[in-house]
Amino acid sequence: MSTHQELIDRDRKVTFHASTHLRDFAHGDAPGRIITGGQGINIVDMDGREFIDGFAGLYCVNIGYGRTEVAEAIYKQALEMSYYHTYVGHSNEAQIRLSEKILELAGPGMSKVYYGMSGSDANETQLKLVRYYNNVLGRPQKKKVISRMRGYHGSGIASGSLTGLKAFHDHFDLPIDTIRHTEAPYYYHRAAEQEGMSEQEFSAYCATRLEEMILAEGPDTVAAFIGEPVLGTGGIVPPPEGYWAAIQAVLDKYDVLLIADEVVCGFGRIGSNFGSHHYGIKPDLITVAKGLTSAYQPLSGVIVGDRVWQVLEQGTGEYGPIGHGWTYSGHALGCAAGLANLEIIEREGLTANAAETGAYLQQQMQATFGDHPIVGQARGVGMLASLEFSANPAKRAHFDPSLKVGPRIAAAALEENLIARAMPQGDILGFAPPLITTRDQVDEIIARVKRAVDKVTDELTRDGALR
Ligand SMILES: *Cc1c(COP(=O)(O)O)cnc(C)c1O
Repeated sequence: MSTHQELIDRDRKVTFHASTHLRDFAHGDAPGRIITGGQGINIVDMDGREFIDGFAGLYCVNIGYGRTEVAEAIYKQALEMSYYHTYVGHSNEAQIRLSEKILELAGPGMSKVYYGMSGSDANETQLKLVRYYNNVLGRPQKKKVISRMRGYHGSGIASGSLTGLKAFHDHFDLPIDTIRHTEAPYYYHRAAEQEGMSEQEFSAYCATRLEEMILAEGPDTVAAFIGEPVLGTGGIVPPPEGYWAAIQAVLDKYDVLLIADEVVCGFGRIGSNFGSHHYGIKPDLITVAKGLTSAYQPLSGVIVGDRVWQVLEQGTGEYGPIGHGWTYSGHALGCAAGLANLEIIEREGLTANAAETGAYLQQQMQATFGDHPIVGQARGVGMLASLEFSANPAKRAHFDPSLKVGPRIAAAALEENLIARAMPQGDILGFAPPLITTRDQVDEIIARVKRAVDKVTDELTRDGALR
């Protein structure tokens, strides 16, 4: 049997890893790790070292690791019928039951579910539907999509263009030319620049900026707006008060479709079935993925609202069957995993736990880090939280990026056997623990983060990096 180190060295020779320094990894200058198992909120590596996963994989393993019930549902489905395509009306019972469940959770106004394998491909589908919709309605020039700076919507050519983070655009010639990015709902930083603005005023300001963009582009050229109910990869930033109502009023005024990217928020993460319910958002289209199967199988979905569905029907009436499909759409194993996952969430009341234990998490983050010398803001909602570090919290001063404060604190947390994620833009440490997390486990997470933050604070103080 191979040792941990032998396997990592073999990996270096053959695997192209996501979001990795390719040269350093291939040449042995960046660490690797082989994960061999998981139970509850913990994962284990090949040396038997156990970590609390404070980020649930990539905010996706909401029911926790090692749920044999889901494994059995997948196995049973695989024995019976693992795959047949879902083109031209073919289906499987798992897909039908899952769609019924998703539509029940989504509530009134939502009509159908189209399946993919990832959040990125689901957002590609969204962009195609938006184009088709306006072509059917005889508005071929109404095609641009407005996203937000710091939004995250995937990693493809189009979905990566929707993403509003520099690292996903640079050197890939993105964004593509029909996509625009408006102001991020990032009150913490913008309010510092716009002295004295209240959250409500900042929300109104974001809506004004959006309206100015729509007018500058020409309302007859703007088809849709996409946003996550809570900014995720862009820094885990809940919207300022009144934000969604203000944005939605502008979209309604100019007949712009609203796509809610619920890949992170969907299925309980912030204590409601959907983030849209939490913030009173009325989307035309919804993207789901991560929380749909808790990542036991890859599966994503586009939930199509009545307004768009009617036009899609009209379109196929005129043009014939829709020219869109993935080989694996409605994959029976993914749908079986999704059903088992949603059953667990419902039976164990995990959405309610995300609300209750999530409130406790927020409270403890505030209590522990509210006045910490290098924490500018502790923020979050439900089971989503982040710490934004600052060289001078009173002035909201950034650290010198070369100090890599975020990654250093994530590394210090890892030494405490806690996984938290250094978010890609800014010195921000993100938390998205599984929805099964208990209060005691929250206490343990916070205790470990505190030791990690204090350790790096001592180093930074010693090096004179605080201002
Ligand atoms: C992760 C994510 C995506 C992309 O999903 P993939 O499965 O990685 O393609 C899209 N939108 C949001 C909000 C996400 O967090």
